[in-house]
Amino acid sequence: MADVPINMIRNIGIIAHIDAGKTTVTERILYYTGKGYKMGEVHEGTATMDWMPEEQERGITITSAATTCEWDDHCVNVIDTPGHVDFTAEVERSLRVLDGAIGVFCGVGGVEAQSETVWRQGDKYKVPRLAFVNKLDRVGADFFAVVKEIEERLDAHPIAIQIPMGKEQGFRGIIDLIRMKVLTFQGDYGEKVVEEEIPADLMAEAEYRREEMVEKISEHSEILMAKYVEGAEPTVEEIYAGLREATIRCAATPVLCGAAFKNKGIQPLLDAVVRFLPSPLDIPPVHGTHPKLKDQDLTRKPSADEPFAGLVFKIFSDQHGDLNYVRIYSGQLFGGKRVYNVNKDKKESISRIFRMHAASRTQTDTAGPGDIVAVVGPKFAVTGDTLCDERHPIILERISFPQTVISMSIEPKTQADKDKLAVVLAKLAKEDPTFERRMDSETGQMIISGMGELHLEVLKNRMLRDFGLDANVGRPRVSYKETITRATDAEAKFIKQTGGHGQYGHVVIHVEPFHGEVPVEFESKIIGGAIPKEYIGSIKQGIMDTAKSGVITGYPLINIKVTLLDGSFHEVDSSDIAFFAAAAMALKDAVQKVGVEILEPIMKLEVAVPDRYLGDVIADLNSRRADITEMLSRGLIRIIHARAPLAEMFGYSTTLRSCSQGRASYTMEPCEYRIAPRQVYEKIVA
Ligand code: GDP
Repeated sequence: MADVPINMIRNIGIIAHIDAGKTTVTERILYYTGKGYKMGEVHEGTATMDWMPEEQERGITITSAATTCEWDDHCVNVIDTPGHVDFTAEVERSLRVLDGAIGVFCGVGGVEAQSETVWRQGDKYKVPRLAFVNKLDRVGADFFAVVKEIEERLDAHPIAIQIPMGKEQGFRGIIDLIRMKVLTFQGDYGEKVVEEEIPADLMAEAEYRREEMVEKISEHSEILMAKYVEGAEPTVEEIYAGLREATIRCAATPVLCGAAFKNKGIQPLLDAVVRFLPSPLDIPPVHGTHPKLKDQDLTRKPSADEPFAGLVFKIFSDQHGDLNYVRIYSGQLFGGKRVYNVNKDKKESISRIFRMHAASRTQTDTAGPGDIVAVVGPKFAVTGDTLCDERHPIILERISFPQTVISMSIEPKTQADKDKLAVVLAKLAKEDPTFERRMDSETGQMIISGMGELHLEVLKNRMLRDFGLDANVGRPRVSYKETITRATDAEAKFIKQTGGHGQYGHVVIHVEPFHGEVPVEFESKIIGGAIPKEYIGSIKQGIMDTAKSGVITGYPLINIKVTLLDGSFHEVDSSDIAFFAAAAMALKDAVQKVGVEILEPIMKLEVAVPDRYLGDVIADLNSRRADITEMLSRGLIRIIHARAPLAEMFGYSTTLRSCSQGRASYTMEPCEYRIAPRQVYEKIVA
């Protein structure tokens, strides 16, 4: 699969509600596209499929961020999308590196809450999609009801291009409405697709549905519309072309059907991926910014002649070292050469390039635009970094690290676990650069902080389950901060006479509220040697350390500026420690004089709720101190934009579910710190 022309590459993701069958569909895709697979042997029953067993396959789909397979001479890269869709960097990144997606729906459950969330995320990033209605063999499955739900609940424009033949246990195969044929799946694993004529008793239904399909596609295609008006039959190729164009514009969603577990419907789904979803050439060029000239918008076309640019979208550690999954947007990547990591301002070596398959990996010397490969060699890269040509630097994803808003403690159970914790945290930080870790100086506990409850939950599972760490994990807590709202001066002397050598440090500082680039700004205005230069660093350190552990509440003190105005020293007794201590005392004194305010993290919230539950959802938000900033309609769905304190949002998913019968969904991300009301202050200070 090395040198596939770019128009024959498909980078896809599979998105679904949990339990709809994402894993089973993925397994079947990998199986039918598998390289080592010999149909004859399986058919004769002489070969056993050694990697069909569910467990083994699951391992593959879960540990590989992208799997390359081959279908109809096309290279199909199946990219793993995170199970939980939130406003997290990770979801954005995965939707950004794929060009199209398959939405899998359960034939019984239909459009469930989580599939609504994922689908909307796909709308936001304009990802062209197919829909696959799965589990049609189950009791209660209803293909047409699901198609209707896709239309009504998701505001999509579904076009059924297949219909099921038989219902529930009698589900036998599918009718292809474009080619007007029946497809059945024979052999032990459904590997033989048999094409037949549509039986007479199903013909009327098939013709009716076909007419409906052609009418819908015609709305998007001038050629088809002209023929439709004339009453002429479009050709199969014209239908394909019209539907492909509408799908890529996100104006239509072709709907297919099957039962993955019963090995029915997967091969036609793969045909549809190749036929209707975009290649990297069909999507707009990628945008980025220049590392130095931040306002300069740059684009890269998917061409081998453009300078090289690729995004590291996932890092996994295995026995070969770190595997960096890279989506290449432009230019070429060569094994054995070096590239520029623009985010780290470092050269990275590309030792080896792999294509990851379901059961193996193949090494390749080069990879080009549109490719998704795993690279070994980079040392500095973390998830989200851009690798590029040093002469043409570009940052594909602007990474800003907002302040983390929620923390929890981790206490390893044994000394061995303690040692392991440091290693595990370092690995996690490479995979996910959006969390923080620090040692609490008072309790000696390791504290990790992240962007939300879910984020900490995922990190916890990675540590305890995947890395096998044995540790007690505390409950998630809000990360409050301290700040001041008035300016003041303060003076402190640290003097000790202990026998011979004493201690002497003396500082005068000005402390004021300040919103700078860093939480605590420090400036020295010492001139004329009131304090020798060599002690200024210790004074700054004394300020920083004191601010980090707070003055009144133990939460970090932020948004301040400290200016060193004056002081004095002693020829013999002055030392770094003495100035460090004097600075700490002065800052504490200043803050005590003016008093602190508590800053609390405010979350930006988007809730999507069907009209009839709107009242209950708003009433609940009001009781959570939320400000509703905007309200929009998307069909029958209302979209509420609001800001609410994180402290009030714990357990929100449960409440939202119960006040909307599971129909509402929401996403949440930190947006700012705001001064907390008096009752919050009093609770914390008490
Ligand atoms: P995921 O959570 O979306 O990855 O879903 P899975 O692929 O793990 O499937 C959830 C459950 O549904 C599993 O027990 C599957 O065996 C079952 N399942 C998947 N596809 C089908 C299907 O086509 N028919 C039936 N009856 N069960 C299915």
